[in-house]
Amino acid sequence: MSEIIDVSTLRSWLIRFAGDVEEHAAGLTELDSAIGDADHGSNLTRGMKAVVTMLADEDTAPESIGAILKQTGMTLVSTVGGASGPLYGTFFLRMAAKVGDCDTLGPESVAHAFRAGLEGVQARGKAVAGDKTMLDALIPATDALEAELGAGKPFAAAIRAAADAAEAGRDATTPMLARKGRASYLGERSVGHQDPGATSAALLVRAAATTLIDGEDGK
Ligand code: ADP
Ligand code: MG
Repeated sequence: MSEIIDVSTLRSWLIRFAGDVEEHAAGLTELDSAIGDADHGSNLTRGMKAVVTMLADEDTAPESIGAILKQTGMTLVSTVGGASGPLYGTFFLRMAAKVGDCDTLGPESVAHAFRAGLEGVQARGKAVAGDKTMLDALIPATDALEAELGAGKPFAAAIRAAADAAEAGRDATTPMLARKGRASYLGERSVGHQDPGATSAALLVRAAATTLIDGEDGK
């Protein structure tokens, strides 16, 4: 795989995530029906379909990495709704602001972008690790990405470690008590259910790893 993310890799990541969200929509909604209002799968499917449509428009699709990330964030904010729309939107908008107007990203820049996106979600949603939210996947993923790159690991290994950490973080939400969002209204009854937002966030990071490692065609 390449050590560099270019525009086509970024587009492939987003398109893959959209496909994964659609494939897992029923499962995400089922998780949200246990501790929320049963709309997370449909919310995110609607938003990512709008992102794919935005990317497919030959006349208006943004062309730089920063512009694609920014337009993705704005599309998610305006189409997903619920708590997760503004939060996922913020994630991409902050990544966009961090990378600026560039055509390629090296591994360190990807890690910096993830950290900026994560900090945006934290600032906007005021949740912390252990509150049973998407942060419980995004925080360990970002930590792992930074740690692996800091240890000199190749990009592929680092992004795979990030996806593994996101999935472990997702699984760790099951015994947690929800302290933010709709699930927090349930109090103790939120315990024993996997968080839908952590589940979709793990899909996002896994889609990045799969795209980077397998290449644009998934081969
Ligand atoms: P809503 O709860 O408004 O119906 P969704 O169902 O689309 O929105 O998304 C729910 C997910 O959003 C939760 O599973 C959780 O991961 C995430 N979430 C909710 N509130 C916050 C918050 N304050 N910070 C981070 N993530 C949050
Ligand atoms: Mg919901």
